[in-house]
Amino acid sequence: MKGMVLDAQWEPKADYKVSEWEETTRKAITGNAIWRHPKLEVRDWPDPEPGPNEVVLAIQACGVCGSDMHFYETDADNYILYPGLTRFPTILGHEFSGKVVAAGKDVKLLKMGDMVTVEEMIWCGRCTPCRNGFPNHCTNLEEIGFTIPGAFANFIAVDEKFCWKIDAIAERYGSEEMAYAVGALTEPSCVAYNAMFTRAGGFKPGHFVDVFGAGPIGLAAIGLAKAAGAGMIVAFEISPKRLELAKAVGADHAFDPREVSPSEVMMELSQGEGFDFHFEAAGVPHIAIQEMEKALAINSKIVQVGRAAQRVPMYLESFQVRRAQAYGAQGHSGHENFPNVIRLVASGRLDLRPIITAHYDLDKTVEAIAKSVERSDGKIMVHPN
Ligand SMILES: [Zn+2]
Ligand SMILES: [Zn+2]
Repeated sequence: MKGMVLDAQWEPKADYKVSEWEETTRKAITGNAIWRHPKLEVRDWPDPEPGPNEVVLAIQACGVCGSDMHFYETDADNYILYPGLTRFPTILGHEFSGKVVAAGKDVKLLKMGDMVTVEEMIWCGRCTPCRNGFPNHCTNLEEIGFTIPGAFANFIAVDEKFCWKIDAIAERYGSEEMAYAVGALTEPSCVAYNAMFTRAGGFKPGHFVDVFGAGPIGLAAIGLAKAAGAGMIVAFEISPKRLELAKAVGADHAFDPREVSPSEVMMELSQGEGFDFHFEAAGVPHIAIQEMEKALAINSKIVQVGRAAQRVPMYLESFQVRRAQAYGAQGHSGHENFPNVIRLVASGRLDLRPIITAHYDLDKTVEAIAKSVERSDGKIMVHPN
C-alpha cells in the first residue's frame, strides 16, 4: 500500500537530557528536542495484517491536524515543531474513518463493511490511570500517526475496541461519502467535548460562552456550545475565513482579537455580568487567559485545551472574587465522548459540514499539509481510497 511517511533523524538537542525510557523505546517524549531534518513523502509501506482482536480498515477520509503542520514546519535548526510523544519513521494521520475490510479471529464487535471512526489514543487498559478510568492519561500510550502508523494511508490495522460505528451518521446524510468525511471530524470534536463537558462539567443552558481560536477544535466547541443551549457564543480568531466558519457553526459574534479588546467586548455584550464559560483553543494562553480573567462571570469556568509549553501568569484574586475555576483537559477517549458526539452529529444537532473546506487525494497529502500551514482553512480532508 501507499502511506504518507515522516522520517527524521534522532539528534537530541545539546541541552536535552534523553531519558533511559526514550533511549530504549526510541519514543521521544519531547519530539521537538530530538527529531531533526524531517522528510515527508508518500511512499510504499507494508500492508497491515490484523492481529486477533484487530480489524483492517480501508481508510476513506483523514483530516489534516494542527499537529501534522508542526511536523512539516521546522525551527531554525531544522527540528520539528511538534513538542509531543513521537517515534519515526511512521505514517502520519490520526483523524479518520474507514470501512472494515478484514478482521482477526477474535473480533466480536464489528463485521466486514462496517463504517467506523477511531480513537487516536491507544490506551493500554492495564496501567493505573487506565484502570482508574482515565484512559486519556495512560502511561503506556501509543498514538496513531505519532508513534505507530497512521491513516494517511490506504489501510490501517487497529484493535476493534478503539472503533466506533458511524452508520447513524450515514443515515442522517443519506451519503456514505459525507458520513466518512464528517465521521473523520469525530476525533477533534471529541477533544472539544471531553474538555467542555467531561472535564469542566459543561455550563447551564443560557450561559454565555467564548471560544478563543476557531481552528477545528474551537469550531467543534462552538457547534457543541450551540447544541448544548448556550445563551450567546462569541469567537475570537485572527483568520478572516475562520471568523466566517465560526459564525457558520453557531457563533453569534466573531472578532479578530487584534482589532478589539476581547474582555471589553465580553463585558459589553454581557452588560457587565461577564461570560460563564471560557474555552481556550488557540494555544496562546498567555494572551487569552488574561482577557478571560477580566470577563469572569460569578461561578465561571476557564478550560485550557490549546497546547502551549509555557508559563502563564494568573491573577488568582479574580478567581476568588468571581468564584471561578480553571480546568486543564487533554485527549478524547473514554467517558462516553465518542458515542455522544456521534449521536449529536447523527441527530443533526451538531452540524460540522461547513468546517470541511478542502479535499485531497492520498498522493497529494504533503500538499494538503502545506496548504494547512496557511492557517486559513477549516478542516482539510485527505481521501486515501
Ligand atoms: Zn488532531
Ligand atoms: Zn494505560
